[in-house]
Amino acid sequence: MTTLIKNGTIITATDTYRADILVKNGRVCEIGGEISKIANEIIDATGKWVLPGAVDAHTHLDVECDGMTTVDDFESATAAAAAGGTTTVIDYAEQVPGGTLAGALEKWREKAAGRSVVDYGFHIALSEVTPGILGEIPAMVAAGVTSFHARLDGWGERYIHDGQLLELFESARGAGAIVCLHAENGDIIRTYLGRLASEGKTSVRYLPEARPPEVEAQATARAISIAEMARAPIYLSGISSAHAIEKVKAARDRGQVVYAETSPHFLVLTSERYEDPDGVKYTCIPPLRPSWHADVLWKAISSGDIHSIGSDHRAFHYAGQKDLGKEDFTRAPRGFAGVQERVSLVHSAGVAAGRISPNRLVDLVSASPAKIFGLFPRKGTLAVGSDADMILFDPATEVTLSKATSLSRSDYTPYEGMNVRGAPWMVLQRGKVIARENKVHGRAGQGEFLPAARFSVP
Ligand SMILES: [Zn+2]
Repeated sequence: MTTLIKNGTIITATDTYRADILVKNGRVCEIGGEISKIANEIIDATGKWVLPGAVDAHTHLDVECDGMTTVDDFESATAAAAAGGTTTVIDYAEQVPGGTLAGALEKWREKAAGRSVVDYGFHIALSEVTPGILGEIPAMVAAGVTSFHARLDGWGERYIHDGQLLELFESARGAGAIVCLHAENGDIIRTYLGRLASEGKTSVRYLPEARPPEVEAQATARAISIAEMARAPIYLSGISSAHAIEKVKAARDRGQVVYAETSPHFLVLTSERYEDPDGVKYTCIPPLRPSWHADVLWKAISSGDIHSIGSDHRAFHYAGQKDLGKEDFTRAPRGFAGVQERVSLVHSAGVAAGRISPNRLVDLVSASPAKIFGLFPRKGTLAVGSDADMILFDPATEVTLSKATSLSRSDYTPYEGMNVRGAPWMVLQRGKVIARENKVHGRAGQGEFLPAARFSVP
């Protein structure tokens, strides 16, 4: 089976050039100025950009959260991903309290197998750091999981102490893995939540007061400092504020291996949404910030202090799920859909707005996450031997995002009515067209598990 993509402009994280691509058996077989070979299928990409399929390193699919189940499983979320140009997701497999990492991996492989439209890998999200959990890390690395996530916003039994964090970094480093962290200080959040509740301040407009930027900055600095003691790499997922990115920048200036990820919603939505009558639709953790934080995040993207943009796709319905938090925001499950809109949003607010180059777009949504999480160069670039995952992207088209165009099962999109410039025209996975103009052709179960290579500094 061969496919020839002709006349497109190939854009990787480093290069931009006009060339044809010949795909054979799902892989890039040849890239050349003008390939005139016979192929089973020929696609004319005149006027289109040919980008490597996007890699979303931050999704939460088919998961229990705050006592509710997300509305998207691997089938619906990866169909949405495919339509939006994302051909690989790295999902968080959650270790249940008292459970094992092997159990989490097995459960998530079952959730994805037979359902996922796109390829997938996993981080394992830890509920606790115990000697037993740390002891399992080498076996997980051997099984193809090389990133382990911990939340610093827990409290009580879920609070992770400094010594535990140190041991997690050391164990991960020793096994060839990287630690990902959600960095907000849970102990202080608990104090703020208690205070707000006693003052009757439970409407969603007070969510930012429970989780202010300083709480994020403190945990970010604490995690970076402990990673430094362990001489271990660290990946901060979901950086939302100027305060936190300042800590990342300072550590990187000292030469520490620190990676930061933000999400499109921190770049294009602001905390003003919490004043809306349906403001609870926008609950996420960390919360949305005032707009000046987004300006600082864009600067950090330009300077290279932010490496990756993940969607943090965690979809719920407004009716019957998010709206339970109308009187008390702590009752609303955190998160919303975003896997489908990610590439277009970053293109529109980044490239089309003149903030970043098309190459930097590829780096942020594809190449860097593929490198950091051990999937490069199979994913994240277009080179001879890479998987033939591609977005034939139309940078000039204009789209209005809405529930009508969203393939998530959620009954709303947080980006309703937003006009974006640039969208995928056609999306290929291993040489096969899986989406075209927002219609999905790929079938559930065609996605493959991607074992990650051990972490090495890109
Ligand atoms: Zn998340």
